[in-house]
Amino acid sequence: MLSLDRPFTYELPAELEAGVGSLVRVPFHGRLVRGWVLGPAEEVPARLLTVRGAVTPVRFFDGPTLELLRWVSERYVAPLAAVIARSHPPRVASVEGAFLAEGGGAGLRGGRFADSTRFARLVPSAPPGPPTDSTGRARLVPSAPPGWLLQYRNGASLLEALRGSGGAFVLRPAPEEEVTVALECVGAALERGRGALVLVPEAHPLPATAAALREAFGDAVGMLLGGDRNERYRTWLEVRAGRYACVVGTRPAVFAPVPRLGLVFVSRESHALHREQRAPYYHVRDVALERARILGAVCVASALLPSLETTVVPHVVVEPPDRRWPPVEVVRPGPEGRAPRLISALKGARRGFVFSPVPGYGVARVCRGCGEPAACAACGGLLRLEEGRVRCTVCGADGRCASCGASAFGVARGGAERVEEWARRVASVPVRRIGRGEAPRPPGPSEIVVGGVEVVKDFGPLGLDMVAVLDADLASRRPGLAARERALASWMEAAAWARPGGRVIVQTRHPNDPAVQTLVTGRPERFHRAEAARRAEAGFPVGAPVFRVRGTATLEDELRALHPSTLLVSGLGDESVCLVALDPARVAEFGRAMRALAERGVVSRVEAEPHL
Ligand SMILES: [Zn+2]
Ligand SMILES: [Zn+2]
Repeated sequence: MLSLDRPFTYELPAELEAGVGSLVRVPFHGRLVRGWVLGPAEEVPARLLTVRGAVTPVRFFDGPTLELLRWVSERYVAPLAAVIARSHPPRVASVEGAFLAEGGGAGLRGGRFADSTRFARLVPSAPPGPPTDSTGRARLVPSAPPGWLLQYRNGASLLEALRGSGGAFVLRPAPEEEVTVALECVGAALERGRGALVLVPEAHPLPATAAALREAFGDAVGMLLGGDRNERYRTWLEVRAGRYACVVGTRPAVFAPVPRLGLVFVSRESHALHREQRAPYYHVRDVALERARILGAVCVASALLPSLETTVVPHVVVEPPDRRWPPVEVVRPGPEGRAPRLISALKGARRGFVFSPVPGYGVARVCRGCGEPAACAACGGLLRLEEGRVRCTVCGADGRCASCGASAFGVARGGAERVEEWARRVASVPVRRIGRGEAPRPPGPSEIVVGGVEVVKDFGPLGLDMVAVLDADLASRRPGLAARERALASWMEAAAWARPGGRVIVQTRHPNDPAVQTLVTGRPERFHRAEAARRAEAGFPVGAPVFRVRGTATLEDELRALHPSTLLVSGLGDESVCLVALDPARVAEFGRAMRALAERGVVSRVEAEPHL
C-alpha cells in the first residue's frame, strides 16, 4: 500500500543470522507479519519490538540491488515492499527446502551488518521474499566467434567497455546480425569474468537470441523464461547461488542476482512487452540503465528501431558502417490490398511473409434484414466476420443487428483470412495463415505465411525472398500515442527477414509518412523527429514521466497544486482519473505527495507510464 510505504525499526537478534535482504517475522499492530530487512537503523526509538525469526536463510537482495529497488519505488511511485516482492519469483518453501538439502545453499546467505548493530530497518511485506551473496563458480566460457562488432561504428568502444567499465549503448544491428552481435557482447563480458543479463520481451516461442546463447555458452546460461512456480523459484535459487554467468529472462529477470554483473542487454528494446503490465509498472529499459549505472556495468539497448525514449538518454550508438537494409518498394494498395506489384511478387516467391495486421475475413457493413448500417445490438460496436462467425470487436457478442436483430450481413472483405484466400490463388507455393490462437512460427522452406503482429517474433535471420506489409495506413489511425511506434517496430522486424537477398513491399497511400520513410531507409532518425514533435504537442514529451492517478473528486485540485506540465482529467462515477506528465526532476516530490494523499484517502491508485 502506498499509504504505508515506509520502513520500521526492530531489534534483530544476532542468532537469527539475518541481514540485508532477509525475510523475517515481526510483530506488527498486534499481528505477526513478514518483513524485509533493509539494513541497520541509524536512529533507534526508545521502545522497539524484536524480530521473532527468519523465514528462510535465503537473502533476496543485496545492497546494490536494494538501491535499484528503491529507485524503482521512487521512479514509478510504487511501495518498496511491492517492488521487492516482484523482483524475484514467489517463494516456494518445498523447492527451497530441497535445494538447501542438496547443498545448493552455499551462495544464498549474506553477512550480518558490517557495523554489527543490533537494530534493523525493515519494511513489512505483503507477499514473501529472500537471499543474497554470490559465490559464482569459476568456469571457463567459450567466447563467441569473433565477429562483426569490431567493424561497427563505435563497436570498439562497446567491446572496450564490456571488458571492464560501464556505459549506455544503443545497438542498431544489421538485420541479419541481431543475434550474433548479442552473442559477441555476452562473450566479451564473460571472457573477463563479468556476468551478463539478457532481457527478452517474450518467452514463447523461445527467442532465437536465448537459444543461441545456450548453444554458445552451454551450462553457463540460466533461463528465467516461464515454467511453473516450482521451476521458476528453483532456477532463481540457482541464479542466486551463483550458478550461471549469464541469465536470459523476461521482465522480472532485470532484477536477477547475477554474480559480478557487467552487462545488461535489452533485446528488441522497443517491444511493448518490456513494460511491466502489473504494479509496479516499471520499464525494463529504464531499470536496466539504472542497474548498470549503480554497478558500473554496461547497458546495451538493442533494436532495429530503438524506442523514442532512448533518444533522451545519453548513449553511444553502435551500428554497421554501411547501410544494410533490404530494398523496400512502396506501392498503392489495390482492391482488398492486392496491388499488382504484390501479386507478381507472390507468384515468384518461394519463401515469404505477408504481414496482415487486421484479423478476420471482413467487416459487416450492412444488415441483410433491414438494410441499416451494421452495428452490434449489445453495444453498437463494429462487427467482424472471423473464422466463420460474425462477432462484435468491442464486446465480443455474437453479431446481431442493432436495428432489427437479424444476423445476416453484407461484408466488406479484407483482413488476414481474406488475404490468405486470394494469396493461395496466386502464389506458387503453399500459403498458410497463422491465426491468433496458433503457435507462431516462421515460414517453412517453401511456404508463404500470412499473419499479424502475433507472428513477428525473434526467429533469428530468415533470409526470406519476400516480405509484404499490408494495411500500413491503419497504424496512424489506431488509438494511442505509441501505436505508430509499435507498428513501425513490427514492420521493421518483419522487413529484416528479407535480408540478405529478398525484397520488401509496403502498401500505403502515404509514401511520405515518416514511419513509411523509416521503413524504406531502415534509419530511425526521421521517424524519431516527427514522433517527438507529435508527442510534445499532445502534452506528453518524450522522457517526461507520465502517471495515471485515481482518487476522489478533490484529486484534480490537489494535483493542480503540484503544477504538473500536463494534467488531463476524466471522471468515472465518484472517482477522478487524472493523467499527469511531469518534469523528470520532479518525480521524487510527486511521489511524496502521492504517498501523503494516499494516506489521506484522496489517492487510491497510481499507475506509472500507462499506455497512452
Ligand atoms: Zn458489442
Ligand atoms: Zn437489421
